[in-house]
Amino acid sequence: MNSTKTYNPQQCADSYLAQALRRIGASEAMEHLLQASYREIKFELPLIRKDGSLAVFHGYRVQHNHSRGPFKGGIRYHPSVNWEHSHALASIMTWKTALVDIPFGGAKGGIDCDPCALSSSELETLTKRFIIKLGPLVGPDQDILAPDMGTNAQTMAWLYDAYSQGEGDEPAVVTGKPVGLGGSYGRAEATGRGVAMVAAWAAQAEKLNLTGATVAIQGFGNVGSCAARFLAERGAKVVAISDVRGGVYSGDGFDIETIVHSKEAEEKSASALELARKGEAISNEELLTLEVDLLIPAAVGGVLHENNADQVKARLIVEGGNLPTTCEAAEIFRDRGIPVAPDILANAGGVTVSYFEWAQNLQRYRWERETVHQRLEKTLKKAWDNVRKKAEEDSLSYREAAYVIATGRVKHAIELRGF
Ligand code: GLU
Repeated sequence: MNSTKTYNPQQCADSYLAQALRRIGASEAMEHLLQASYREIKFELPLIRKDGSLAVFHGYRVQHNHSRGPFKGGIRYHPSVNWEHSHALASIMTWKTALVDIPFGGAKGGIDCDPCALSSSELETLTKRFIIKLGPLVGPDQDILAPDMGTNAQTMAWLYDAYSQGEGDEPAVVTGKPVGLGGSYGRAEATGRGVAMVAAWAAQAEKLNLTGATVAIQGFGNVGSCAARFLAERGAKVVAISDVRGGVYSGDGFDIETIVHSKEAEEKSASALELARKGEAISNEELLTLEVDLLIPAAVGGVLHENNADQVKARLIVEGGNLPTTCEAAEIFRDRGIPVAPDILANAGGVTVSYFEWAQNLQRYRWERETVHQRLEKTLKKAWDNVRKKAEEDSLSYREAAYVIATGRVKHAIELRGF
């Protein structure tokens, strides 16, 4: 989707971090320590394609910080995957796990491939090779993998299988697995469920009635489609959705349940426009500047930038994706008084239920679906209440407050451990 040419995820992540560290009075040396990764791994991934040709992809894993627990974060399959993106997204994971107060650090990685252009068996080979290359650097007490853009429960099943070949059966090395293979109830939809919860709390705080509120969602993958479903359940009217091929708008709102079902059932390859079966075609860029109450960027990073932030008309932005707002756009939203529920809070439902899955795997005991839902809500509500309180007390944006809390916790953990 459309991000600016100048989008530099690392610069944005560093800028959010630097502001927070200034607020908590951290030294320059501490800033350096928190910016840098603990370990960065890059390797070649050769693959003989179906037609006999050789393709070489690149695998990345950036382990950013493990002061509060093992490294934790997703594996992304997308042509944009590189060191810079992995590093920025890994640091975001460190702040996210700290903000929701689960005992993990942060990591991220992936492969610079287009998963739609590869067959299932090619993806399986690449995935298994990926974890074999990582060797002892991953594990339930070292670094725990999970889905991200372009990967899913099937990818996690392959990772689990390949890891267990060498290490014995160990489901806790990867979360987001299929429920039939040690996955947790509620993990698949946890990120979207969390986005809807945070949207509801933020709407209430901003005196925006969610019942009948109009919503535009960029990205109709796992996060966007689940967020749409849960927001519709709460009475919101989803008027615009999009995917990589473009978007669709209907002032009357869409029947999300039907769209999601047809996507799951028969039409996996159909675009959002085809699935919606009504409305007018719009571009991804147009979706972002629609006159709506709630805007949810749930696709790639950097889509809200200095060239379109002035034209955004939404009353509230809830970040379903990671780093969708550049630091310049964040300033503009702050000046324009548009509240933004930041990624490290809004999309933290996924890693929260990943934590529950990891705990269940280590306990060898499955929790009821209702238990997962209740504990997710409790965890996110506590994080939201802390962010809201901090934002009010110190006149900060929600993002600034979230970063102050999260970086403060990581700094504290480092100091407790000693250097
Ligand atoms: N990829 C998701 C995220 O960015 C989930 C990570 C996880 O569950 O470890 O938060």
